[in-house]
Amino acid sequence: MTFDPTDPYVHVRGAREHNLKHVDIDVPRDAMVAFTGVSGSGKSSLAFGTLYAEAQRRYFESVAPYARRLLQQTGAPHVEEITGLPPAVALQQRRGAPSSRSTVGTLTTLSNLVRMLYSRAGTYPEGAERLEAESFSPNTTAGACPRCGGLGVDHDVAEDLMVPDTTLTIREGAIAAWPGAWQGKNLLRITKAVGIDVDTPWRDLAKDDRDWLLYTDEQPKVLIRRRGEPDDSTGRDYHGTFSSARRHVRHTLANTKSQMMRDKVLAFVRSTTCAACHGTGLQTESLRVTFGGLTIAEMNALSFTELVKVLRPVAELVEVDVATSTADSGERTEVAVRLCTDLLARVQVLLDLGLGYLSMGRVSTTLSPGETQRLRIATQLRSGLFGVVYVLDEPSAGLHPADAEPLLEVLEQLKASGNSLFVVEHDMDVVRRADWVVDLGPLAGEAGGQVLYSGPVDGLEAVEESATAAYLFGRAASIEGHDRDPQGWLHLRGVSRHNLVDLDVDVPLCVMTAVTGVSGSGKSTLVSQVLAELVRRHLGQAPDDAEDTEVHLDVDDAEGLESFNRLVRVDQRPIGRTPRSNLATYTGLFDAVRKLYAETAEARARGYSPGRFSFNVAEGRCETCQGEGFVEVELLFLPGTYAPCPTCHGARYDAATLEITYRDRSVADVLAMSVDEAATFLADVPSAARSLGTLQDVGLGYLRLGQPATELSGGEAQRIKLATELQRARRGHALYLLDEPTSGLHPADVALLLRQLHRLVDAGNTVVLVEHDLDTIASVDHVIDLGPGGGDEGGRVVATGTPREVSRATGSATAPYLARRLD
Ligand code: ADP
Ligand code: ADP
Ligand code: ZN
Ligand code: ZN
Repeated sequence: MTFDPTDPYVHVRGAREHNLKHVDIDVPRDAMVAFTGVSGSGKSSLAFGTLYAEAQRRYFESVAPYARRLLQQTGAPHVEEITGLPPAVALQQRRGAPSSRSTVGTLTTLSNLVRMLYSRAGTYPEGAERLEAESFSPNTTAGACPRCGGLGVDHDVAEDLMVPDTTLTIREGAIAAWPGAWQGKNLLRITKAVGIDVDTPWRDLAKDDRDWLLYTDEQPKVLIRRRGEPDDSTGRDYHGTFSSARRHVRHTLANTKSQMMRDKVLAFVRSTTCAACHGTGLQTESLRVTFGGLTIAEMNALSFTELVKVLRPVAELVEVDVATSTADSGERTEVAVRLCTDLLARVQVLLDLGLGYLSMGRVSTTLSPGETQRLRIATQLRSGLFGVVYVLDEPSAGLHPADAEPLLEVLEQLKASGNSLFVVEHDMDVVRRADWVVDLGPLAGEAGGQVLYSGPVDGLEAVEESATAAYLFGRAASIEGHDRDPQGWLHLRGVSRHNLVDLDVDVPLCVMTAVTGVSGSGKSTLVSQVLAELVRRHLGQAPDDAEDTEVHLDVDDAEGLESFNRLVRVDQRPIGRTPRSNLATYTGLFDAVRKLYAETAEARARGYSPGRFSFNVAEGRCETCQGEGFVEVELLFLPGTYAPCPTCHGARYDAATLEITYRDRSVADVLAMSVDEAATFLADVPSAARSLGTLQDVGLGYLRLGQPATELSGGEAQRIKLATELQRARRGHALYLLDEPTSGLHPADVALLLRQLHRLVDAGNTVVLVEHDLDTIASVDHVIDLGPGGGDEGGRVVATGTPREVSRATGSATAPYLARRLD
């Protein structure tokens, strides 16, 4: 098993990870290899689960002897032998949430260079000492602003939120942030007792009084005399303690266990820019140092396109010896030239990848998965590694065809510098560019896991049973359009957010609309933020998660919101964050199963309720693993890893519960079934059969019911949400918003998904998609194309109309691609 550099192939023998059926393949090194197949066919199990996992295992073995013990517990990949495998780097999407403190600058390591630049070559105030590079980072003790600890924000209550209507008097409830019931009355009495008029409109009260009521830290005790109060004949005198609205909000946030109470008071809190560091998170001394006239915070806020303009003049100073340097400025020294040249080269790659609209300071949690992956690819390109395998997960995901072009060039550069690229891919235009294709199938799960073809792309054409071949060589029928006419319009006027400035846009009702445009043009901002938030607020629906509550909307006018009676966002966010949730619990299907088991004669004889059959309830679950089926193994340096529970071996239940069977199967056996198997087993249980049917409709028949939410891909999570919707679908006027629903899906799965989405529209609903997939765009009723470019060069409606109309528009980046597809 030694590495033979003269043999240009990686040999895999007997791979059996997940559904792989004893796979033997040879794939070339120093080439771009595409792994294709329908969702669930086994692409990731081969590329990530086998090849990458094995490379990583060997790496750990070579650097860390204790790793052997770990790998025995979690299991090495199920494969007999792999030879010729170089070290690997996996660039996977959507897995692992980046920390909120990481930014584009830290992710790409550009921040290190920039801090060095300010430390060594910046212009300092007269007499100031040079600072260490780390003093320019808000994440270090040396650099952090002492007021906000480097976060750049203060969280505090705001008067306009606590008193939304200033024409009201205190008695009429001006202070919305006050508690209700007895406490509210108590505060009212105290206010009166301290001499503030509770019958004057809020806006006419003295500022001192208003501030005291809202913000004071004093908690005066006041004697309240109740005799003679008309509303309280039994009232006794008492000592009431005052507490300002801010104190009340802070106290609630610090003490309440109720999410409802938290949400309620959070509505009075606004995150404001830290007044000391103006949001930069940096201490004052660091902010006095400049380069090219900019502080490091200002440089971080520049888009890469603008940053280049600052760096280039310095990088081009070739006559280094004439460079001047005084004690307070190093901007024209050799160090400055070298650092700027290095930075410029790295930033150029980002521009090439179409990411010029991003800035170093952009927080990584606000990036799309595609943006994050491209940043990582760019960083790798500069790392100078060679002889490495890069295992990539759908690098073209989330990319407009115009953006995919430069990405492919970068991948080719990686290959040209002596690396191998193993790419799980669905975009046929990318697959065509590969040197080699490994096609898995024929179907998903148990019905997949075989290699249908492994060889140069052309050869795949002859493989009849390959779904990929059908799309790659144009044999598959294209998805049909419906040419529906809008039944009205939603008119948005004067929308401003991010790069959308005073935008007017019209969304047609009761049809399917695709919002298109290059990366950074403003699609997500328009659909997932502005549109979603407007409709959500109109309907008074609760926000999906905490992030959404911060969205500040700047919209002059919105007409037609009343057309919707429900808002549904079908996104790729996980259906649960712990292994305790799975598709059976999420869809409600498991309720039916538990009831079924509780109704068996034996369960009734023993007095087992449906709760007994939940692995989340103490009654029936395995005590060792508390119903998880796994126990966590903690290891130094490595994120927690899971090993099967030694007591129940993954069954999750205690022995007594497993004795209860229905048609010879225990409840754990049901969780181990695939959706397809369960559909047969539970065919005569109507409530279960309906859920299972909709899951099959969206192409998820291969998933196991008990597969933990944490193991599902974004595309699977999204389709589970869609199936859950379809199972309750009725005729209605819901607005469905989907952000790139086809990402991660094989064209055959895209066709399935679209059929279901069209069903929703036929039932009277409105569907709006953010989309790049040309087959999908060609099949919708209406297109809104944003652009023409990303960032400040985007944010406008470039073309709108039917796909055919948009394909003829001038100045649209989408039009030429769409025109080719429609021909
Ligand atoms: P693809 O990448 O082609 O979509 P996968 O390799 O992810 O397919 O999945 C192939 C099969 O293996 C599917 O039936 C899937 O449900 C199953 N599978 C994937 N991940 C796991 C896992 N962690 N544990 C058990 N089964 C899994
Ligand atoms: P698209 O969805 O078309 O790729 P986005 O709506 O994500 O585009 O982005 C449009 C513009 O808004 C870009 O310039 C992007 O950098 C900016 N932007 C997006 N999200 C944020 C954010 N959370 N903070 C600051 N700028 C953002
Ligand atoms: Zn601060
Ligand atoms: Zn257990």
